[in-house]
Amino acid sequence: MTSQTEEGKASYSLVLRNGHVIDPSQDLDRVTDVAIQDGKIAAVGDALDPGLEEEDLRGRYVCPGLIDLHGHWWEGSSFGIDPDICLNHGVTTAIDAGTTGHINFPVFRRNQASAATVQVLAFVNISSIGIPTPLVGELEDIRFARPLETARVIEANRDLCLGVKIREGSMTGKHGIEALEKAIEAATSTRVPIMVHISKGAETRRVLPKLRPGDIVTHCFQGRGDGIFEEGCRHLLPEVLAARKEGVLFDIGHGAGSFSWEAARKGFEHFFYPDTISTDLHRFSIARWAFDMPTVMSKFLHLGMSLPDVILKSTRTPAKAIAKGNELGTLKPGTVADLFAFEIEEGHFPLEDTHLRTEHASRRIKPALTIKHGRRIQPGSYPVRLRPLEECDQELFRLIEETANPS
Ligand SMILES: [Zn+2]
Repeated sequence: MTSQTEEGKASYSLVLRNGHVIDPSQDLDRVTDVAIQDGKIAAVGDALDPGLEEEDLRGRYVCPGLIDLHGHWWEGSSFGIDPDICLNHGVTTAIDAGTTGHINFPVFRRNQASAATVQVLAFVNISSIGIPTPLVGELEDIRFARPLETARVIEANRDLCLGVKIREGSMTGKHGIEALEKAIEAATSTRVPIMVHISKGAETRRVLPKLRPGDIVTHCFQGRGDGIFEEGCRHLLPEVLAARKEGVLFDIGHGAGSFSWEAARKGFEHFFYPDTISTDLHRFSIARWAFDMPTVMSKFLHLGMSLPDVILKSTRTPAKAIAKGNELGTLKPGTVADLFAFEIEEGHFPLEDTHLRTEHASRRIKPALTIKHGRRIQPGSYPVRLRPLEECDQELFRLIEETANPS
């Protein structure tokens, strides 16, 4: 907190002036100032005292730093990318969705998560090896599913580990339910949620009733089959409605294969909206479909969601989903000074889903400034260095094109 200073002296290290502040955690949606001191939010309100430095955000929006609930941030996997590129586009907390399991988590922690400027947290994969490659599923051999070791790594890394990840689909082979039970066993013993990926091949109708309040289903609008809709029809599965009623959360996880305009619209027709918006950013999704959090958020603006709702699902709700609602995704005084300032740009913007269908949006979120722990970061500050693609990487792109749902 700041102390009262004599007239003419700065009361804060940085004051953001005249931005349109949207903070769903405080029902804030108006033009006002935000003051920062010692890496924390010091005050939010009109005509705040001067700061040592000032930033005029007239005409721009300001919200809590974005929390991307689902990405792949370990470069030891063929999916992984450098998490610090998140800081170019407003994400101040990047959550790794099970790229590592108990074998490789310690290396991920030491070499990637701890070395990053962005805050990196993680779900630990129930598979010992995490998700090394799209070529072979991490649970095709059920011996990789290790509840005891997974629980131990979570216990030993409570500051970073948020829960247990499992992918249900072709990568689980015929062991989907057995593997799920092992993931739940690890999560129950450590009192954390699980995040369940559902893709083609998942036994979704058997998976959902096993989930507990607070568990997260990701890829809810994938549109490739075995998702949240009755096969061949427009209705939501009864198990989906029951799970939501129980307190199971539904996440986007856009990725390279998991966002369909048609599935999202079908969901919206039934008043089924995602709880959280996330990119599922990885080596295969970053250069074409998902790009970054503002792009994925812009898709939901295009679908008709309001800007405060899109921000809610990218800040406050993911913070609560990872049991950090009092620390993250908020601009309450005393919390870490993680913020995102952006413009709403008007124009004609092509946005492609992962079924190769392009729609044109008239608005998009354009990053203006990220603030991490009180420090200002301009878009483009972190160079995007992606590993070169190998011939075998093309397999995944071919599969995405082959299985796209063109209707
Ligand atoms: Zn993923």
